[in-house]
Parts: sequence; structure tokens; C-alpha cells
Amino acid sequence: MRDVFEVGAQDGLARIGELDVPRAGVTVETPTLMPVVNPNLITVEPSRFVDEFGAELLITNSYIINSDDDLRERALDEGLHEMLGFDGAIMTDSGSFQLAEYGEIDTDTEAILRFQHDIGSDIGTPVDIPTPPDADREQAAAELETTQQRLELAETVDVGDMLVNAPVQGATQPDLREQAGAHAYGTALDLFPVGAVVPLMNQYRYDDMTEAVLAAKRGLGRDAPVHLFGAGHPMMFALAAALGCDLFDSAAYAIYARDDRYLTVSGTEHLDDLHYFPCDCPVCAEHSPQAVRGMAAGDRERLLAGHNLHVSFGEIRRVKQAIKSGTLMELVAARAHAHPSTLDGYRALLDHSDQLEASDPASKDAFFYTGAGSARRPEVHRHHQRLDRLDVDGDDVLLTEGDSNHRYDESWNVLPPFGPYPSALATTYPLTAETPARMDRAGYEAAAEGVCRLAEANPDTAFTLAHDDWPESALEAVPQRVSLYNAVRGE
Ligand SMILES: [Zn+2]
Repeated sequence: MRDVFEVGAQDGLARIGELDVPRAGVTVETPTLMPVVNPNLITVEPSRFVDEFGAELLITNSYIINSDDDLRERALDEGLHEMLGFDGAIMTDSGSFQLAEYGEIDTDTEAILRFQHDIGSDIGTPVDIPTPPDADREQAAAELETTQQRLELAETVDVGDMLVNAPVQGATQPDLREQAGAHAYGTALDLFPVGAVVPLMNQYRYDDMTEAVLAAKRGLGRDAPVHLFGAGHPMMFALAAALGCDLFDSAAYAIYARDDRYLTVSGTEHLDDLHYFPCDCPVCAEHSPQAVRGMAAGDRERLLAGHNLHVSFGEIRRVKQAIKSGTLMELVAARAHAHPSTLDGYRALLDHSDQLEASDPASKDAFFYTGAGSARRPEVHRHHQRLDRLDVDGDDVLLTEGDSNHRYDESWNVLPPFGPYPSALATTYPLTAETPARMDRAGYEAAAEGVCRLAEANPDTAFTLAHDDWPESALEAVPQRVSLYNAVRGE
């Protein structure tokens, strides 16, 4: 068990966690969002973060501070917390981003970690190599090796009780990401940013981002706090939390505001296109889009940045509540159905429902079927696996969506998308599911898969499936030896 991070309530891979930041003397509840502060360009004063938005942690860039004579002297003299006017915990980045942008930087892991320590950072970062997505395998592997050497070097630098990030690279090569996760987890370092996914998120490639994160997670232990580096758009917080990410950082709140862009949980709007503010935050309650358009650039930027932070922190709270109540997958589905890119991410996530299932609680309040994706959720996967182990008593068994029938030795209930189950389980999760009266094809097909599993596990039993007019695509998947009865048509 890593002693700085404790995992509490879980929902799939998502979890509520407690991150101890000893140097700051605080414990941060995760998932959490870190506003990014560019010390050269303050859009929202960091002193407002705690009271107005509920931020417990911010992130700033030690490389930018170190590169500017004035900022460097002030940071060394006053300390980072005093300089930024922020009492919470502060994470610092190292210049890896600048390395990726400009090809070279004039610092190294040892020097920048010592500098981060000297200016009072609570969580520091070595100089890793952010390999861009789609880099060829040779480049990704070679750069990963360099990153790994730097993590090993970082372990040897004496930084007192400052926590240190161990970035996980590997581009879009899942096996490299997994190997990078395992290596990073094996070091004595503390937090695990999944790096170089910003280009994927900027291009709305949420499916590729999902694959990269899940691969890293397979290498990392379950008690590793994971930071999705550069994830600042609230439309993907629910998905990212469902992937098992604990920390997010938002530069987006300020960068988008500078271009008059307005964040929402389902995408981005431009101020020019808004007739109304579709939001309950104080900025949106007190101003109209028309009034904000008429303001000076600086005022407009500050107000939009304020809204962007409010909507982002609001979504983090919604995600946390959903994890606690076991309804995160419903929230992910709702976000997925608002934007094609989040839908891609959701579908990629469902491709790995076995990975999610391993840490999903066996019982929650209720399973809501909210669309075809629900048929691929971990709960359905787990029920199908359980059917391999459930024995039937009789020789001649009815599987029915309706009433039992005494002509058979035994009757089992059938509920799409789960399929058959013994009536004794009817009051247990997830079979207490709320499903629509107008089930979709995917739900019936998943139920047919359940019928297959039960028939395969009980080869000597005769089965009859009494169904309420299932579509042909589902009935075709039922083994031929299962007799079919259409209860709606009576045939
Ligand atoms: Zn607002």
C-alpha cells in the first residue's frame, strides 16, 4: 500500500481517494481538479480558488519560474505559496512540455527537482520525455527508456517530504504504456501522471486516450494516484474518472476564456453564439451574454474564466457524488450521448468492461439501462460469467420474461440485457435494474448471450425460452437446442 494515497468508495475503476500531501500539511480528496497557474499571466487570482471554487491543489510550472530572473528570485525569496497567494497544496511541472514544444530546455531532472524543492513546491516533477501520439515504436521505446532512467535518478534526489511525480509515457502503444506503468509503480515515487495525452484530447480522440489510460492502469497498482495530465475539459471528467484517473488539471479555463470560449459539460460554446448562459453559476446568473460581449477584453476574460472554473468544479462534484452513489456509468453515458467524441471514449471504455469489472462493487443502489452501451457494462459481463457457474436443478427448464409454468421442472426469469437468472436472485443487484419498456436490440442480444452461457454450462438440460417478441438478431444467437416460444404472438 502506498502510504500517501488511500482508496475509499469505488465504482468500476473510479474511486474517491485521499491524497496526503505532507509538505503542505493537507489531505486532498480525489477526484480533484488543479487549476493551472501561469505565473506570467494570472487570469484568476489563486487566492480566489479555495473559497470561490473549492480548489485544494493548483499546478504551476517551475521551468517558467526558473527561466525568469524576477520570478525566480521572488519564488526563492518568498516561496511559491506566498508568491501566488495560495494556501493549499501546489504541484509544479518541470519543463517537459516546453521540451516537447521547443526541442530543448536548459535544465535537467536533478537541478529542476532541487529548484522545485527550494521554492516550496509540495509535489515536484522530473524532466520526462513526452512522446507524441502516433510516434513509431522505435521512438516511443527509446524515449520511454530515457524517461525511466530519469525516474530512477529522481528517486535518488533528496527533496525532503516533497512528493514526486512519476510520469507514464509510451505514446499510443498500449504495451509500452502498460510496461511504463509497471516500471513507474515499482519506483519509490508517489504520483503517476499519464503523460502526452494532450494532443489526443485536443483532437477529441477520446477513444485513443481511453486506450492509453487503461493500458497505463494495467501496469499501475490499484493504490496508485493517477493524474490525467492536461485533462481540463469538463465534458470528459466523468469518462476520465471512470478510467480510474484521480487528478485533472485545467489550463483550459483560462486559455478558452481568452478566446471568448465558454465551457459546458457537453462541449464548448463561443460567446458570440450564446443568447443565454445555460448555467447556474454566479457569473451566468448575474450577467447576460450580450452584456459580457460589450465589456473590455480583460473583464470579459476574467468573467468567462470564472464561469469555466465554476462549471469544471461543478462537474467534479457531480462525478464524486456519482461514484459515491454507484451511478458513474450512467453519468458517463449521459455525457457520451451529448458528443460523438465522448461517445467514442465511452465505447472504448466498454471494450474493456472486464478490466472495470475487477474493481466494481458487487452491489449498488440500482442499475439504470440508458442505451445500447448499458448492455456492455461490467455488471452485464459479470452476470454472464456467473451463469457459467450457476447450476440448474431440473432436466427441463423454462427461461421466461413472464410467469413461471408448472409444466417445467424449474422456471428462471429472463431480463434483458442480463439474460436468465434464478428467481431467488430477483431482489439482488444488478437484477433489480430499471430497464425501458422499449428495449433496444443491444439489450436483447446481450440477454441472448446470457442464454448461450447458461445452455453451454448445462449441456444435459433441456431449455425453453419464452420471450416477448425478441428481434431476429437476438434469437439467431440462441443455440438451436433451446426451444423458442414467442409469448406475445403465442407461437
Ligand atoms: Zn456559468
